[in-house]
Amino acid sequence: MIMADNNTQTLSCVVSGIGASPGIAIGRAFLLDRGKLKPRGEKISSDQVAFETERFLEAVTDARLELEDIKAKTLKSKGNEVSEQHNYIFDVHLLMMKDKMLIDDTLLLIKEKKINAEWALNLNCEKIVNFFKQMQDSYLRERQSDVAHVSERILRHLTKSDYDSIDKISRGVIVVAHDLSPADTLQLNPQKVNAFVIDLGGRTSHTAIVARSLEIPAVVGTEYATEKINGGDRLVVDGIEGKIIVNPGREQLAAYQEKKKQYNSFQAHLILNRDLPAETTDGFRVALAGNIETPEETESVISHGASNVGLYRTEFLYLNRQTLPSEEEHFLTYKKVTESLPQGSATTIRTFDLGADKIAESERFHEDSVNPALGLRGVRLCLNHQEIFVTQLRGILKASHYGKLKIMLPMISGLQELRRARKIIEDTKLELEREGVPFDSEIPVGIMIEVPSAAVISDQLAPEVDFFSIGTNDLIQYTLAIDRSNEHVSYLYEPLHPAILRLLNQIISSARQAEITVSICGEMAGEPLYTLVLLGLGLDKLSMNAISIPHIKQIVRQSTFVEAREMLQEALKMDTAVEVEAYVAKEMNKRFPETFLMKI
Ligand code: PEP
Ligand code: MG
Repeated sequence: MIMADNNTQTLSCVVSGIGASPGIAIGRAFLLDRGKLKPRGEKISSDQVAFETERFLEAVTDARLELEDIKAKTLKSKGNEVSEQHNYIFDVHLLMMKDKMLIDDTLLLIKEKKINAEWALNLNCEKIVNFFKQMQDSYLRERQSDVAHVSERILRHLTKSDYDSIDKISRGVIVVAHDLSPADTLQLNPQKVNAFVIDLGGRTSHTAIVARSLEIPAVVGTEYATEKINGGDRLVVDGIEGKIIVNPGREQLAAYQEKKKQYNSFQAHLILNRDLPAETTDGFRVALAGNIETPEETESVISHGASNVGLYRTEFLYLNRQTLPSEEEHFLTYKKVTESLPQGSATTIRTFDLGADKIAESERFHEDSVNPALGLRGVRLCLNHQEIFVTQLRGILKASHYGKLKIMLPMISGLQELRRARKIIEDTKLELEREGVPFDSEIPVGIMIEVPSAAVISDQLAPEVDFFSIGTNDLIQYTLAIDRSNEHVSYLYEPLHPAILRLLNQIISSARQAEITVSICGEMAGEPLYTLVLLGLGLDKLSMNAISIPHIKQIVRQSTFVEAREMLQEALKMDTAVEVEAYVAKEMNKRFPETFLMKI
């Protein structure tokens, strides 16, 4: 929604969206083009062949120089075993830029078909991709995506598009884009990017989740931001309210500078509780854990007051790369996470949940699906690509010798799936035992409850696992039939919908009956507005991104379990989500008027 403000001299307006990551940021807009290029194909005359040839060769040289530059920077900034993988990919791409099939054949097409360089490159690229697609050998088959990436890079130079602008972002900017994938977002440098704004997306999309992990304020689902904002515009991004003030007037700017100061000092105050337990004044304790996407975040969740890592989304290990992580890489990564936690703290490693909006570049995962969220993702993908699953399991089990680890399976929808996955885990353990590799033979195995069918049969699933963790992001998405990444239906994403409250109640009572622990690791766990309702449900643990932990801890420490139970009981009596939301918002605002409750 856009509102023009005629009171200021510059063209000023307010763009509304969904507050996805809290905080106030001020800076200049940097427009990032993440759309796929659609270059114009043109017929040329014989006289123009030399010009197009030269233009193409120039673009190839520029692309090569650019890639060499990125390679040098990456090596300098990383310097660990992971960078070797990157190094290898850069080398493959650099070699391709000299490849006869790619370069000479494109030049031939320009000359023979009398078409411009863009068209010739596209035609040639299609031909090579099809050639690789038919390969029997999976390694060679995967090279098709390398060809596509290399061509895209050359194309960006031909059309002078700002392709790798993520690398070129200068300090202090606010990135404005039509969309950012979770993988793109992970590449944003919080030292440089003050905030980001995108046209698409919802609050529980993985792009929003990564923004919160990086502690970058963000507004998503604006629909029109890229149309209304020009590069260089001065912006205020309010990630709490979900608003962007474009070219604010002097008074507006001053008001937001003040709000930013207040918010930052509020956060600084909260962090003082960091080492205290999350315990209500009448003695009910709930564990607060951290969600991480990369090993580097472990330190941050601990410094924000988490007692352990409740969800490690390991699929992020597979993004922004063309090759799959090796067993050794899995092992070293999980070992690093567990060793950077205080002794005795557990890490819950969720086996990779690729699919939906988290797409690995490896061709093996590519699936043409109109409904990727309902497609081959999570444990289904693991069961379909058992060799990849086993590689990860071996890495986890080996690392379990060095610290307390738990295995968590995502997207379980029924008993049979669970039993199949558990059998693979048991077989992998036997294999390691035979090899004499040490590991924790008692490693707990739990599941995410995030598919409605699993919630309904939670009483049957509970006796067969060591713990439940409720993935409310997906559970709500699938129960209410609301795409969590779609801004058009985000108003229907209602965590306090009576159907959700009933399901949560049911899952928790199944866990209690089987005497297993139960937690929530969806974004709902980190929303202050819902804390008392969740406390009332009597969960053992709430797992969330680092920045939410201090706020949730403060709310728990200032409340009683009795009032939380009462609030839940009241909520359960209500008929509609709107009624429950209004009731909970009123009660929470009454109790915590000074807090920055995000507008949901
Ligand atoms: C969830 O679905 O709630 C969850 C924690 O997993 P993800 O957000 O990664 O799908
Ligand atoms: Mg999920």
